[in-house]
Amino acid sequence: MRIGVYVCHCGGNISEVVEVQEVAEFTRKQPDVVLVRDFHHMCSDLGQQLILDDIAKEKLDRIVVAACSPQFQGSTFMRTAESAGMNPYLIEMANIREHCSWPHFDFPEDATVKAKYLTNISITKARLDEPLEKKSLPLGKRVLVIGAGIAGIQASLDLADAGFEVYLVEKEPSIGGKMAKLSRTFPTEDCSACILSPKMADVGNHPNINLYTYSEVKDISGFLGNFEVTVTKKPRYVDKNKCVACGECEEKCPVKVPDEFEEGLTTRKAIYIPFNFAVPYKNLIDDKVCLRLTKGGETCGLCQKVCAAEAINFNDQAEEIKFTVDTIIVATGYDTYDAREKKVYGYGKYKNVITALEMERFLAHAAEGEALRDLGKRIAFIQCVGSRDEQIGREYCSRVCCMYAAKLAQLLKRSDPKKDIYIFYTDMRTYGKGFEEYYKRAQREGVKFIRGRPAELMENPETQKVILKTEDTLTRQLIETEFDTVVLSVGMQPNSGAEQIASQLRLARGTDGFFQEAHPKFKPVDTLSDGIFLAGTAQGPKDIPDSVAQGSAAAARAMALMNPGEYVTEPFVSAVNEDLCAGCGLCVALCPYDALELVEKDGKKISQVNVSLCKCCGSCVATCPAGAMEQKGFLTAQMISMVETALE
Ligand code: FAD
Ligand code: SF4
Ligand code: SF4
Repeated sequence: MRIGVYVCHCGGNISEVVEVQEVAEFTRKQPDVVLVRDFHHMCSDLGQQLILDDIAKEKLDRIVVAACSPQFQGSTFMRTAESAGMNPYLIEMANIREHCSWPHFDFPEDATVKAKYLTNISITKARLDEPLEKKSLPLGKRVLVIGAGIAGIQASLDLADAGFEVYLVEKEPSIGGKMAKLSRTFPTEDCSACILSPKMADVGNHPNINLYTYSEVKDISGFLGNFEVTVTKKPRYVDKNKCVACGECEEKCPVKVPDEFEEGLTTRKAIYIPFNFAVPYKNLIDDKVCLRLTKGGETCGLCQKVCAAEAINFNDQAEEIKFTVDTIIVATGYDTYDAREKKVYGYGKYKNVITALEMERFLAHAAEGEALRDLGKRIAFIQCVGSRDEQIGREYCSRVCCMYAAKLAQLLKRSDPKKDIYIFYTDMRTYGKGFEEYYKRAQREGVKFIRGRPAELMENPETQKVILKTEDTLTRQLIETEFDTVVLSVGMQPNSGAEQIASQLRLARGTDGFFQEAHPKFKPVDTLSDGIFLAGTAQGPKDIPDSVAQGSAAAARAMALMNPGEYVTEPFVSAVNEDLCAGCGLCVALCPYDALELVEKDGKKISQVNVSLCKCCGSCVATCPAGAMEQKGFLTAQMISMVETALE
């Protein structure tokens, strides 16, 4: 065996703490080590060339690089080895930066000792390394996008335009998500419906998009390249192909219920079109309130009687649709914080305490000349309702509320400059492009910003005005005043269905409950599950531009993966020693990725590994009482000898 060891200075990151020459001297004495070098930047072209030349001249058959984390440069050195004709899995890295010089910068002598140990442990592992081969799996061009808010819409359009086949599943009767409800969007104040509706129409008409609205993913099994999806389509009771959206049925329907799209500010009928730019723009019947569907028999049925297109079908049933996709994008968005939970603000109890999303609807109607209600002259916004609040377990900032409050305040002021608008804030966070200028403009237009978080709101029982008490923490003044309307700037929280999606797709969620990306800096739209990506607010609070950017990023990542038509997997998977396997099934029950199953072979039951699903977690190896499971690249013998080296 001829092992070459390279100790990197990392431009001082390592060598300013660790005595790299000492590590090199120590390493030189280890058995099988035939060459040791230290160099300022091993990952540079020069550093890699050193390795290439040495492999050729010194006939090295194992390489150990003592440098940074293999997560950063592991693939660089593997490629170097490969171009020298060496199996890339015969390279080991010792992490003497993140595990040594960085955390132990205060203890340089100890850090040097630890660096020697870490390098020696990697040499021990390298001795037992075996050449491994990557596997390739076929990949098609089919993508499931779950959720059709702006993030899912953007991802779907990018993929469909590039020739990929998209299956877009939306649980509501129309696509559009929360953006469809907004009046205008900060900081440019574009009319939200005007910029969203063309994209929604494109989705509805795109030949490469199979759109399933009013549908939910019931089941997903399989893996990258072969996800088997079952979608349940709820019954609409109106044939989409026949309905001409004439509105006759809606007019006749006697049932009125609060309209969810309008945040309950107006009513809709039992048969309805969700909103005036819905896609699909077709009626559906709400079977929870329709008289015929709840009471049965020949009750009501007025809509059917007046429908000239004969589109109404009270016998419509839920439908199951099955298809297979190669990759998945999760764009299930967010829910706004339920302000009822913050009892001190009296939302749901006091008539004139409303949410910001309700204010969006008031303003959207006002823009069309329709005043839903007189909101009065004095209006206050309270920031951080459901955000940055440890008492309710929501410590994070929702990132959009400062800006949308500045937007809504300006829109109100512009509709009537005599309106007296206050924003009570914790900190104003205006971090984006043009946002600070937008905030300043609100100040110039006369919106008053007061730093203070009201502890409680009361209702004046006679006037129904809202009494607000707080301290202005900048001037130390106590404020007690009445407002005609108080708007709660509600934050974002994970979508109520996030838990189900997380368990269906085995996705990790952060402490805030949003889906967790694989790496916040380098893999912001990937997940730890191969072939599953995140887009938009499903991953965390963000505004529309960031949701769109992430939608495009997720689409691009999915395309980059599928474009080659095959997927090359790392060979680090578990393998069964069939002679030792007793078929007890313990590993099958424990594998968190469902990568194992018991199969019949030569008259006995044995465990079998699905290499596409195995994530190399090691559970099966640790569990198997017969020692029949091994992990390639992390053999039991390697682990034991590494521990022994560490304890020497
Ligand atoms: P969503 O809009 O939440 O869309 C998610 C979609 O997924 C929904 O259609 C949902 O029905 C669907 N879905 C969820 N679960 C499932 C499931 N299991 N199966 C199928 N479908 C599912 N941002 C700005 O940039 N400018 C503004 O002016 C602005 N104003 C705002 C005002 C208010 C009051 C609020 C609350 C937010 C505002 N925002 C603004 C933020 C903006 O709403 C979001 O950035 C944007 O809507 C995020 O889009 P999304 O697609 O990630 O999520
Ligand atoms: Fe409305 Fe149902 Fe009567 Fe049709 S049958 S008009 S949807 S209540
Ligand atoms: Fe399952 Fe983990 Fe074993 Fe792979 S290593 S088969 S993921 S238990």
